[in-house]
Amino acid sequence: MTMNKLPAIAQIGEPILRNQAKPVDKILDHTIIELIDRLINTAIANQGVGIAAPQISQPYRLFIIASHPNDRYPHAPTMAPTAMINPQILSHGDEVVKDWEGCLSVPNVRGLVPRYRSIEVEYTTQQGETKQEILTDFVARIFQHELDHLDGILFIDRVTDPADFLFCKQPTYVRDSENSTCF
Ligand code: ZN
Repeated sequence: MTMNKLPAIAQIGEPILRNQAKPVDKILDHTIIELIDRLINTAIANQGVGIAAPQISQPYRLFIIASHPNDRYPHAPTMAPTAMINPQILSHGDEVVKDWEGCLSVPNVRGLVPRYRSIEVEYTTQQGETKQEILTDFVARIFQHELDHLDGILFIDRVTDPADFLFCKQPTYVRDSENSTCF
């Protein structure tokens, strides 16, 4: 897959972003392996910290988390892009924190979104292994944002106060000093 053939990112208004995604049955199937590749390349090309399969119009329960430090989250851990297949939240802590999110599928908008600070998750890896992990802070936020994409939910749905929206002149995926975090 060459970089100039990257898939288009579905934009708000496209029905794929509002649909329930399907569980992945055959983890090691070549179509899923290729899909993971395309998602990782797309996340890297857009400097996204995460991307879900429906965002490139593929209706599967699969996303990539690619946390890296950025202007808004300077202490974010650096992770190799990690595929999480059939992900779910097993349990969560009580603490809910609001922080800024943007989305490759929702250009020019940011919002303060409440998320659980700590979650216990389960997912299947690219190699077909089931993993359970505790995620906190920024990585937990990315996980919750991407999991929402698999259920047809966008971060704007979770903004609780209209005053918590910020509109930007340029798409949120354009990197500058203010807007460098896209999910
Ligand atoms: Zn998103």
